[in-house]
Amino acid sequence: PLIIFIAILIALGIIALVATAVVQNKPLQPQKYKYGIVLDAGSSHTAVYIYRWQAEKENNTGMVQQIHECDVKGKGISSYSSSVERAGLSLRECMEEAKEEIPIWRHRETPVYLGATAGMRLLRKENASVSDQVLSSVEGFLQTYPFLYQGARIISGQEEGAYGWITVNYLSDNFHKARATMGALDLGGASTQITFVSQQQVESPENSIYFRLYGKDYHVYTHSFLCYGKDQALKLAMAQQLQTSDLPLRDPCFHPGYSQERTVESVSSSPCVSGSPALSSHANFTHVGAGNGTLCHSAVRRIFNFSHCEWGRCSFNGVFQPPVEGQFGAFSAFYFVMNFLNLTSDTLEESKEKLGQYCSTPWAEIKQSYPHIKEKYLAEYCFSGVYILTLLEDGYSFTSDKWKDIHFIKKIGGSAAGWTLGYMLNLTNMIPAEAPDAPPLPHA
Ligand code: AMP
Repeated sequence: PLIIFIAILIALGIIALVATAVVQNKPLQPQKYKYGIVLDAGSSHTAVYIYRWQAEKENNTGMVQQIHECDVKGKGISSYSSSVERAGLSLRECMEEAKEEIPIWRHRETPVYLGATAGMRLLRKENASVSDQVLSSVEGFLQTYPFLYQGARIISGQEEGAYGWITVNYLSDNFHKARATMGALDLGGASTQITFVSQQQVESPENSIYFRLYGKDYHVYTHSFLCYGKDQALKLAMAQQLQTSDLPLRDPCFHPGYSQERTVESVSSSPCVSGSPALSSHANFTHVGAGNGTLCHSAVRRIFNFSHCEWGRCSFNGVFQPPVEGQFGAFSAFYFVMNFLNLTSDTLEESKEKLGQYCSTPWAEIKQSYPHIKEKYLAEYCFSGVYILTLLEDGYSFTSDKWKDIHFIKKIGGSAAGWTLGYMLNLTNMIPAEAPDAPPLPHA
């Protein structure tokens, strides 16, 4: 009898809950989410992002959130040029995870986008047919999934900059509140982007983009420097030093005691390092660390051309840039490197001082202090740190007083800063040109 009594109580409870929900006109399932998947096929690796938002609220800013990130094992898709069929298969584990993360009944309507960035831009330059084959491989693979396949393409540097800017401002709720926007600084392995709203005239049309978002006009400056991502910049710096100094190469951007045998080809094979006949005289060389922040800064400066400019003012390599203004979010490798070096809240002067000390620390000591960090990353943090300071200060003209306006960030409210969210918001029409109508006033 007690069991029957409890069962009746439970049944009554359920009836009461259902009745309340029906009376209040609320769906029984409290939240009906929709989902979207974007693959960021970067030069060094691919990441799969899953986003979620409440159905019927997609036009409200701040509604879309990242719920999952999966890092594809192995290198970026552009590294599969000699076995293209493996490019698609490399995505399997992460796409299986996506199937688990998203409710089965939403799979068929969940869009999947793949955007490839500078690694594939470089491969296309070298060999357009191989880059097409790599894209076909990932396309064929993604189409085997039950999701709504929406294409795999190489996005332009301008798009990469613009969508990164949309992402950080969407996540900071700057569009909705009609606040000042923040600029976006993105550093990858093969390219780097700078994007911000300037009060000054953007003299070069290729650096100017216009958006109307939530009823407001935005005139945005953007530039993507191909070959100035940190991996290609390292090749440029090493090629430059190889041409002008004796062997072994004594590199001030690597720790004292560091020594590595390298092939000249590993430096010269990139399309970024072109027309360097002096590089072909040796097949191999020893790359030795000399650990000196000041000399490293001079070596890094030499990969930038500061001397010609046909516009009112330039950043470097003859590219127009108005003076930086407002706050900036600096993400991807800007964050990884500055966070590792503990420089995210220092002044420019403190950063230079600390970095100089770090670069001159012996390699054996560095390895001992960070036994769990991948040796390739560890060996390059000195170079990467000096490269970042040089790019930001000498390249973009973030002077000491403007340094505090750069915020090194990885995520905003749980979603990664990067171009992927902005790309999906744009392609799914989730950022309206005009502000949505104000909601009706509730009945008295
Ligand atoms: P991409 O693959 O083009 O998006 O570039 C990402 C860049 O960030 C590459 O240069 C990677 O080597 C680098 N990277 C990723 N994770 C880390 C990390 N934990 N520390 C240092 N560099 C990193």
